[in-house]
Amino acid sequence: MQILCSIPEMQAVNYPAGSKVGFVPTMGYLHEGHLSLVDAAVKSSDLVVVSIFVNPAQFAPSEDLDSYPRDFDRDLALLEKRKVDYVFFPTADEMYPPGYKTWVEVEGISHILCGNTRPEHFKGVSTVVLKLLNIVRPQSMYMGEKDFQQLTVLQRMTQDLNLGVDIIGCPIIREEDGLAKSSRNLYLKGKEREQATCLYKALTNSQKLVAAGELAAEKIIAAAEQLILDSLVKVDYIKIVDGRDLSEVQDIDEHSRMLIAAWVGKPRLIDNMSLKA
Ligand code: AMP
Repeated sequence: MQILCSIPEMQAVNYPAGSKVGFVPTMGYLHEGHLSLVDAAVKSSDLVVVSIFVNPAQFAPSEDLDSYPRDFDRDLALLEKRKVDYVFFPTADEMYPPGYKTWVEVEGISHILCGNTRPEHFKGVSTVVLKLLNIVRPQSMYMGEKDFQQLTVLQRMTQDLNLGVDIIGCPIIREEDGLAKSSRNLYLKGKEREQATCLYKALTNSQKLVAAGELAAEKIIAAAEQLILDSLVKVDYIKIVDGRDLSEVQDIDEHSRMLIAAWVGKPRLIDNMSLKA
């Protein structure tokens, strides 16, 4: 496994002609969610590149950029075991040098849902991913459905800008009690860890309501909201959208997906699930 800490080093990698390069962008502090993407990439690619970059451009000044968990040595040890070929670990100064001025924005869908509370977030995500794709030059990029809006925004960007990269969405990996794995779960203190399971409970309860024949989005959302409020967790949003374009839906069909964001104490957690009617 080669570790490349600068953009020119990564750009200089000469992939053998015809080899299929799979790419997994991450912010590090790897857990089984990230590693499931790496496994999917290893399975379907000739060569695998994983990037570790805590992207300042996707954090608002009030957010947790400085305290975001980092453990590069541990991450490398985990990737070593998984047949990763290259780890790209650039610095923020190199990615955004003085005078940096170019941003990519996927309009509309970047400003709903998480984009309401984090207005600059997806601009930062789209920009860094476009830069990473230009530097790494993969055929496929593996991303988690955990960040469903991010996945949709980046699918739109790669299509709109004719990047010719396949975006592969991978299922959410969860703890035994259903909590979606996340680097930020580390912030959950004391009883917050138990309270945090209410997102999963609200999603699975919504699935059950749909299976029992309830198709009115409004009623399903009200039940989910009640369940979350009963756990004393503060809701940011609960929406049911068409998973193809994130438009809100009134009546559930096979494309419907519930997306939730909520503050469990200080940490803000997100989760989502298909509600197939
Ligand atoms: P991050 O390091 O949080 O930027 O995440 C890097 C990638 O891992 C993104 O594509 C995430 O959607 C994905 N990911 C994070 N958590 C999970 C999870 N629990 N299950 C599946 N994928 C995940």
